[in-house]
Amino acid sequence: MHALVERLYPLCRSITGDGVRATLDIVDEYVPLERHEVATGTRVLDWTVPQEWNIRDAYVADSAGNRVIDFAASSLHVLGYSVPVSATMPLAELRAHLHTLPDRPSWVPYRTSYYRPQWGFCLAQETLDALPDGEYEVHIDSTLADGHLSYAEHVVPGQVPDEVIVSSHVCHPSLANDNLAGIAVATFLARALARETPYYTYRFIYAPGTVGAITWLARNQDRIDRVKHGLVLACAGDRGELTYKESRRGDAEIDRVLRYVLGASGRPHRVTGFTPYGYDERQYCSPGFDLGVGSLSRTPYAGYPEYHTSADNPDFVCPKAMADTLDVCREAVAVLDRNRRYVNLSPYGEPQLGRRGLYDSLGGRSDAQEAQLAMLWVLSLSDGEHSLLDVAERSALPFDTVAVAADALHGAGLIKA
Ligand code: ZN
Repeated sequence: MHALVERLYPLCRSITGDGVRATLDIVDEYVPLERHEVATGTRVLDWTVPQEWNIRDAYVADSAGNRVIDFAASSLHVLGYSVPVSATMPLAELRAHLHTLPDRPSWVPYRTSYYRPQWGFCLAQETLDALPDGEYEVHIDSTLADGHLSYAEHVVPGQVPDEVIVSSHVCHPSLANDNLAGIAVATFLARALARETPYYTYRFIYAPGTVGAITWLARNQDRIDRVKHGLVLACAGDRGELTYKESRRGDAEIDRVLRYVLGASGRPHRVTGFTPYGYDERQYCSPGFDLGVGSLSRTPYAGYPEYHTSADNPDFVCPKAMADTLDVCREAVAVLDRNRRYVNLSPYGEPQLGRRGLYDSLGGRSDAQEAQLAMLWVLSLSDGEHSLLDVAERSALPFDTVAVAADALHGAGLIKA
């Protein structure tokens, strides 16, 4: 995952353009993608697909021709969606177009201007402080023109058409935690799921933030009922503890599953309530859709000083943290995929387990006692109202033990889904 982050890091992504396509090309080497291109001007819900932005070169050069700010060194140096410019001007005039972080003088900020046409450069305060007065050549070789918005999907078919969506944004340039780590974790989750046949169909969405998710929703509005659960992955690789942000509903099954998995695992973590801010859970949870989509991150949105700066680089994300985020995703999938409500088909008195071979195999081992207890709990709570997660929480038995017990009872014809 970290190697994927490093490969994607130099690309100049934005909400449209060739940087997104190049990113999807690389992800496609890991999991086959279905690509979508939606034309500029297309109405998507209350939005319109914007013009496509592409950039080839950009710099500020001093009077001797030295590039003092150079897009080739980092894609962060250009204000995202800058209109083209070619001019010479004094530093005093140039300053209005320069963005720095005075509090973090060695870091370069990440800035964009998607919907107001302007141009600008981002640089370290200490670089700016070292610039002598004088004339500077300013050059941005960019194009803003009718084109397309690009996004992609990868589907892992399940046993049922009901879907779980896993969404990550692909619109940030050279920033590692936000959101290359999310892209990497999603991609490796897809690969892990492809080796199994999951219960749900898992749809991975790689789309630019906000307008990309809105485009996806607009184009999937007539089949949105298929989406039963979802997870937005972002900031998935920093060294902070895991944070799960609940769906707008707060009591969606995905919320219960993540709370359970994080709690049962003993990992330090936080669970926070929904806010209509952050990543694309904002769109998936908007009241017209109201999907059961939560967001899993480590340190959340804007919660670390490196956020949206050049310090969010591949060193800031840690392979171990990404592996841990992936583990939690896989544990959540394992619970979500097996969490069902059953009906006890022999509810009058306890059914005789020994006659069905369910007692024989238990012996006298202590884990056998746990397995037996789990069967009794599943039989007791299988009234069509309680899920296996309810059983696990109420009995304080591990979910896996409960699910194995349910499988045995199902195999013996004692419960039905
Ligand atoms: Zn961001």
